[in-house]
Amino acid sequence: MAIEFPELPYAQDALEPYISTTTMAFHYGKHHRAYVDNLNKLIAGTPFADLSLEEIIKETAGNEKFQAIFNNAAQAWNHNFFWHCMSADGGKAPKGTLLKKIEAAFGSYDQFCEDFTNAAVSQFGSGWAWLVEDKDGKLSIMKTANADTPLAHGLKALLTVDVWEHAYYLDYQNRRADFVKVFLTHLAKF
Ligand code: MN
Repeated sequence: MAIEFPELPYAQDALEPYISTTTMAFHYGKHHRAYVDNLNKLIAGTPFADLSLEEIIKETAGNEKFQAIFNNAAQAWNHNFFWHCMSADGGKAPKGTLLKKIEAAFGSYDQFCEDFTNAAVSQFGSGWAWLVEDKDGKLSIMKTANADTPLAHGLKALLTVDVWEHAYYLDYQNRRADFVKVFLTHLAKF
């Protein structure tokens, strides 16, 4: 059983002008696809081939022997989640229970945006910024390096932004903060 390369939840030009079709073609079509293809090569003929993507991540997290499998599996999961964290009509605060939880954890939605931005901008090198929920339902912000993912730490991801340079360099060059601002004000979908 191979891990599937998932469909994007929108057309490759849907997030223009904030994320260009060229960026999507490379980021989804080349980078994301390569993680899935590499993972399938690495797990072929191993017991991992019978597991779901989530199970592979949990089974290989923290195990140096399986680092390549973890990296590709986590990146496959992270990217699929990231695509679902954006929408052409995004950029609005959530409603209901999630908004109440954000206000309880951060004071306000604006403060959440500030803290999330700080995490995204201060991640040194490649990685991700996240809004996560722990087992008790408490929300927090975290940043992870490279492929690392909240799933590997027993946390549920609620929102992420990819801050690897490949996510923004074609559209924003070195201006990561501009990309994160655009993500929160025009694209983010809870
Ligand atoms: Mn990426």
